Amino acid sequence: MGLFKKGSKLYSILNLKCPRCHEGDLFHTGNWSFQDIAGMPDRCPNCNLNYMPEPGFYYGAMFVSYVFWGFFCVIFGGTFIVGLEWTVNQAMILLIVISAICFVWLFRTSRAVWFNAMEHYDKKYE
Ligand SMILES: [Zn+2]
Repeated sequence: MGLFKKGSKLYSILNLKCPRCHEGDLFHTGNWSFQDIAGMPDRCPNCNLNYMPEPGFYYGAMFVSYVFWGFFCVIFGGTFIVGLEWTVNQAMILLIVISAICFVWLFRTSRAVWFNAMEHYDKKYE
């Protein structure tokens, strides 16, 4: 089982696939689509896993995105302001643009991380 092959958590997270069967899509549209950003099917079309196990299930994904993006901003600021000697305003403008572009990707990937932390791959779907 490779790190990015079907059966690994990274496969499910990076491809936004169902954490149990790694076949069904978690979202109606693609990873970078700005249409129907939070739109998810009610259940996996392949294994019938409930994508909303309980009300408010995805609140935890906010913490995932907060931590991930917080670290990204610190590394970004360190690289551009300290390392490349950009002004804070220049770095902030670029950071805001990157944040706007990556918003959907971060939102969906955080949900996939959270769901994969709670649900595990079932080998019967290999
Ligand atoms: Zn599934």
